Amino acid sequence: MMVGTVPVGGDAPVTVQSMTTTKTADVEGTLAQIYALAGAGCDIVRCTCNEEEAAEGLAHIVASKPIPIVADIHFQYKLALAAMEAGVHALRLNPGNIRKPAHIKLVASEARDRGLPIRIGVNAGSLDPDIAAQYGGATPEALVASAVRELDHFREVDFDDVKISVKASNVGLMIDAYRLLADTVDHPLHLGVTEAGPPPAGLVKSAAGIGTLLAAGIGDTIRFSLTADPVEEARAGRVLVEALGLRERRSVDLIACPSCGRAEVDVIAVATAAQAALEARNIPLQVAVMGCVVNGPGEARDADLGIAAGRGKGHLFVKGQVVRVVPEAEMVEALIAEAEAIVAEGIDARLAAADADAEAIAAAEREQLIELRGVDANRSADKIARIRELADE
Ligand code: SF4
Repeated sequence: MMVGTVPVGGDAPVTVQSMTTTKTADVEGTLAQIYALAGAGCDIVRCTCNEEEAAEGLAHIVASKPIPIVADIHFQYKLALAAMEAGVHALRLNPGNIRKPAHIKLVASEARDRGLPIRIGVNAGSLDPDIAAQYGGATPEALVASAVRELDHFREVDFDDVKISVKASNVGLMIDAYRLLADTVDHPLHLGVTEAGPPPAGLVKSAAGIGTLLAAGIGDTIRFSLTADPVEEARAGRVLVEALGLRERRSVDLIACPSCGRAEVDVIAVATAAQAALEARNIPLQVAVMGCVVNGPGEARDADLGIAAGRGKGHLFVKGQVVRVVPEAEMVEALIAEAEAIVAEGIDARLAAADADAEAIAAAEREQLIELRGVDANRSADKIARIRELADE
């Protein structure tokens, strides 16, 4: 299906969605948020259409939008008609909230005539009471039955341009419901753990639920429902699809060692500074920050670029080859300069521009470090000596 200009389902890339938190009637505020979301990697955005003023706001928003707009409809079918009139690119209907078949079919007929898709957005927390009673609560079967019943209403008016979600805040329930849904229908699926809460728990729950399904080949478009700035939702969604290799990288992928007793620098500080600087420059490379030169360059040899700490020095490496050795105080600066040079000139050119003696200097320093600390990776002898000194003081 097409949501505006964005394809969803089939072989289309998995898309990232989010939802504005502004009043939709506040056109300027909503558009500012939509632009911020688009900048963070959001492909499709949803705005609530909960009152007439919201529908009027949508008429202005749609005219200036950078990405397709989905109107979220609860309870009032007339607002679905109003949103379509405003020019939105798709609707989301909650079958638990608009329950009269005549109203559902009227909205579907209008969407059919306008060539607009609809998401059937089933939510465990607002399941149709009839279905909940029939299935003994919000079970996977009940969530799927609610979606199928809505689909049947749509089919009666010959409308089939539908994607479906069966969200729950319980990760296990959500996974089971989507698995059952994927076995039951042949429509694009919109994945999400609803009301996942604030980070970090909300991020972990969403990544666990959505990631499990995507890794199994289930799902076409996703939303992290976080109690946070929606830009965080878009970023997190984007990181997940990039981490699963489902989308091309558009931002930095910083890999960093967890640090250990071998670390020659404060890895957390260097990694945090590098991440901020690379994100600010929107550099789409995989960049490694490693705490020591003994294991670092080898473990991160697949990264486009990286830096590993030596004794008061940083070994800058490109695709595992050391291209320069820099003073420790210049590690972040050198990493950023090299990242910018790679973006401008390419990996091969930067490998060709490597300092002639960099590999030899780095190898010698590695040897020294192994000799010095190799058999005592945690520097336990030094530490024990210091502990004894302290005890004697
Ligand atoms: S051995 Fe080196 S690269 Fe590996 S975790 Fe320790 S400091 Fe980091």
